[in-house]
Formats: sequence, C-alpha cells, structure tokens
Amino acid sequence: MEDPLEAYRDRFVGADTDLVYFDGNSLGRPLKVTADRLRDFVVEEWGGRLIRGWDERWFDLPLTLGDEIGRVCLGAGPGQVVVADSTTVLLYKLMRAAVAARPGRTEIVIDRDNFPTDRYVADGVARECGLTLRWVEVDRSAGLTAELVADAVSERTALVVASHVAYRSAWLADMPAITRVAHDAGALVLWDECHSAGSVPVRLDEAGVDLAVGCTYKYLNGGPGSPAWVYVAERHLDSMTQPIQGWMGNVDPFLMGPTYTPTAGIRRFISGTPAVVGMLAVADMVALVDEVGIDAVRAKSVGLTEHAIALADEQLAEHGVTVASPRSAEQRGGHVTLHHPDMARVVAALWERDVIPDYRDPGGLRVGLSPLSTSYDEVDRGIAAVRELLA
Ligand SMILES: *Cc1c(COP(=O)(O)O)cnc(C)c1O
Repeated sequence: MEDPLEAYRDRFVGADTDLVYFDGNSLGRPLKVTADRLRDFVVEEWGGRLIRGWDERWFDLPLTLGDEIGRVCLGAGPGQVVVADSTTVLLYKLMRAAVAARPGRTEIVIDRDNFPTDRYVADGVARECGLTLRWVEVDRSAGLTAELVADAVSERTALVVASHVAYRSAWLADMPAITRVAHDAGALVLWDECHSAGSVPVRLDEAGVDLAVGCTYKYLNGGPGSPAWVYVAERHLDSMTQPIQGWMGNVDPFLMGPTYTPTAGIRRFISGTPAVVGMLAVADMVALVDEVGIDAVRAKSVGLTEHAIALADEQLAEHGVTVASPRSAEQRGGHVTLHHPDMARVVAALWERDVIPDYRDPGGLRVGLSPLSTSYDEVDRGIAAVRELLA
C-alpha cells in the first residue's frame, strides 16, 4: 500500500520491533522525543528551576497546551480549551455546569451504548440534581443519529451527551446535525471526543458545540493517566461555573482569600494543581499532528480502516467473522470492530503472539489503528494472525 506518512512511524518507541499494535486507540505509543523530553524535564526544569517553574511555565501550561490542542485537533479558537483532571471528572464538571445553566429543565439525553463512564456520570448527576435520564437505544454496530436525538429531545431537555466516535463500533456521529437538533430544542450539547481528538478532524467552533471533553492518552499519546482537556464555547464562559471550586480556578489563587470567586475565562474549569509531567508527552504528539496536518492523519486513518475491512472480508468472513463497524468511511472513526463468538479466546491467543488488539464484549475484537504509528504491514500481519487462529 502507498503510504505517504510511512516515515513518521520511526518516530515512535517500538517501531523497530515485530509487535503488531492494534491498541493505539486505547493507549498510544510514546514518541522517541518524549523519552528525552521527560529526562530533560526532571534534570533541568523540575530539578533546576524547582518552584520557580510554576511562574515560568507550569501555571499557564494547561492553557497554552489547551490552545494548541484546540488549534491543531479541535477546530477551537484560543481561550476555550484547558487541560485538567481526567475525562471522567471533567464530564462531571461539565454535566453539572450544563444542568445549572438550564434551570427548570428536567432531562439529560444519552444513548445506551455510550462509553460506561459517560453513562455512569450522567446517572449520578441526574440523581444528584433530581433529573431524569432519557435513554436513546442505538444499533451497536452503528450509533447515534440526528433522527434518534430529535425523537428524544423536548422542552424538558437540559443537555444531550454524545460521543463523536463510538468506542465500540467507531460510528462517527454527525456532530453539526446533532448539535443543531439539541439547540433547536433549547438544550445544550456535550461531546466526548476521546476517540476522535488526534484522529478525526473535529470542528467544535464551526459546529456551534457548547461543551466537549477528551482524553490525551489515546490518539494524543500522552501516556497512561495523562490529563484530559475540556472545551467550553466562549459564549458560555462568563456565565457557566463548575462544582469543584478549587483554589486554582479562583480569581487570584495566590491571594488565598476567604471565599471562592471563579476567575475569568476557561481557567475557571481548573480545580487544583495541574499534572505538569503528564502534559509533556501530549505536547510532543500535538506538535507532530501539527507538522503532518490533521487532514493527512485522517486520510491515512481512512486508508488503514478500509484496508482492515477489505482483509476481514477476504480472509475472515469465511471463518464467521463479521464487521461490526460502519462500512462507509464518512461514518467511521479510526478503528474497526470485528465480531465472532469466540473472539475473547482469539484475543487472548493473539496477545501471546505479540499481536495486541483489545476485546470488547460481546465478541468484539477492536482493531485500533493509530494513523502515525501503525503501518499497513502491521494490519496485514495482524489480520493473518486472526485467520490462523480461527482456522
Ligand atoms: C477512554 C474514554 C474515556 C476515559 O475516561 P477516563 O476518565 O480517562 O478514564 C471516557 N469516554 C470515552 C468515550 C472514552 O473512550
């Protein structure tokens, strides 16, 4: 396969081994430059600058890196993205902020196949605030559509929560259309971009999105437990507040005053001390995506998923494997789910052979194809290994 981005793969740790990695959509490989970055940080910036580092760079890093993620990956103008916490915690903060901004409305709309943490947090917020969850049933091999959302929203809806790319099927939701449907009902919309940021071009400003969150350890290669990011549209920044009123989001954190007054701008969505070390690897990957361009990243992503589906049809269908992801590239994110009743055992055997996909019950093998660190040859070898095990 022709791959104009092939050379970038060498920039990742482990690219020179035979391991087939199909889980870059769960935990991206580290960049080689990150190894040096982390060492230098310990020795020079942390070890040398010590507490002065906060004034020099670290205090503003959640905002400066947030702006970069926004510009390179999210189609977000400056001052609307900040890095903080985890996706789960940010989902809680945003759902509470959204519900408070729609007083008198009594429902949160969310689909039954959304990622567990999104559903659990929504359930908790609904109970805490006396709201009702309105569940949308979706096809697990596809996902949420504007029509399904239109059937669920009403004058009672405070918030619609949706994933841009479904973690199971890779269904790529029509973000502008669903956002419009939510807005027409007078509701706010919160998008989870965990599986799109860094792989699918996201246009938050253009789509008129209110709120969004995403993690940085999947397609943004920040490493295990790297912090998440949050987007709040500029038009909401003066009026919205979040429930974890920590000192770092206060008007003047170092005044150590008697009461909490949320500071201006996106910084008010920070609660406590940011995870500085966890942001370093993210910055390296965002710089690489900027160098390549998100549209070129997406083009390779589409090429890889098309290739995986073609091989599955050619080599695995005869063994009973079905494709449980959209066949149209416009409706598909960066991974492909292959279904077979014995897939749990197949995945366990693949790990023994250094072929690393992940398993999603029931019977789903997820082929995660991180565009810059995955080669077409890896896809060939990985699918061949699945075929051998099934045969
Ligand atoms: C990975 C993922 C999360 C992860 O949340 P954490 O708080 O980082 O554990 C949340 N939502 C979606 C859709 C995900 O894919």
